[in-house]
Amino acid sequence: MECAAKGRGTRCVGPAVRRCPRCEIVAYCSLSHQISHWSDHKEECERLEEQIRDSDMMNKFPFTFCEEATVQILEKKQSRCTFLSRRSLHHIGLWSCECSCGFSHIGHNFPVLIKYWNLSSTLAPCGDPISPLSKQLSCWEEYYAWRSISLASPAALLLQWPLTIYHALQLNASRLQSADGSKDIIIHYLGPDKELFQLAVFGELRALLPHNNVHIEFVGPAIPEYRDGEKININSYLHCDDIDCKCKLSSGTSSNTVVTLRLHKGFYHDRFRDLMKDSFPHLIIAPNAGVAAFPTWMETIELIHQLKTPAVFTDFCEEAAHLAARCLSSITCCQLALPIQLNPFRQPMAVEDTALYLPCYSNCFLFGI
Ligand SMILES: [Zn+2]
Ligand SMILES: [Zn+2]
Ligand SMILES: [Zn+2]
Ligand SMILES: [Zn+2]
Repeated sequence: MECAAKGRGTRCVGPAVRRCPRCEIVAYCSLSHQISHWSDHKEECERLEEQIRDSDMMNKFPFTFCEEATVQILEKKQSRCTFLSRRSLHHIGLWSCECSCGFSHIGHNFPVLIKYWNLSSTLAPCGDPISPLSKQLSCWEEYYAWRSISLASPAALLLQWPLTIYHALQLNASRLQSADGSKDIIIHYLGPDKELFQLAVFGELRALLPHNNVHIEFVGPAIPEYRDGEKININSYLHCDDIDCKCKLSSGTSSNTVVTLRLHKGFYHDRFRDLMKDSFPHLIIAPNAGVAAFPTWMETIELIHQLKTPAVFTDFCEEAAHLAARCLSSITCCQLALPIQLNPFRQPMAVEDTALYLPCYSNCFLFGI
């Protein structure tokens, strides 16, 4: 961790081991840096203090592995690697990018679309839902019950992506224009990163939105050149590991809806004209965006504001969401249409080595314009 006063005046004298005694979230190399930074930090400190009080709520999940995947990782008694190893998922298929060492392991030789969960049928949603959704899902517990999977299943680690989209659509239901009676839902998905290696999980949207054809246009600088323009149709669910499970039959699914994905390399404000030729989005979503951290978002946000399309952003912690919201308000001169709120479908495993002593989760907080 870096001294919070680094680069402002005098040089740091060593590692940042001295935490701010009030919020205990930022750290300093020395007492003198702590004192000199106070006028800058004061407002932030009060906010962070409040956020740390709320963090119990962030660490709360219904899963049997909750303690292991949250508090124990935050306290470094456990790592994402050991969590995955215990379940024989370390460096395996879709799970490869779920730990810090996994990315270097997979390198560039990654198959386009992985078809397997690497989980048994009691842990994996591998076929059509037994019954259609009778009401909106509001938490992981309801989703797992509906899909008849055990609360021991780590599937939520990957299902955070489609479930966050589902939740963003529900939150904007009143603003989504579907007057044309079309079955299509078009989503512009900005800044994909590791989800590019986990694209098959978006097929779960077939179960979640059985009456719609979902089209997702992924746009971002992380998309490799050679995948620009690639189109992927997903018309089946990811398979489980059970040899005799009916998900292995070609008629394993009765639903005839399709999820279509397309990849576009570059920034949204550079590529949107090409995308608009085919389709105007119903929703724009930017997961784990880091709006305040990357200046390239400014142009994109101005564009989204002009388009007047509902846009949902997520971030890893409340402070990042707060800073992002401040950027959004100053660019659009409007209040958020969707205030900052905890995402019930955030990834149930803590991020390791965060910049602040604050719990962080993928897709943790949602907000929108
Ligand atoms: Zn310092
Ligand atoms: Zn503080
Ligand atoms: Zn690892
Ligand atoms: Zn199966």
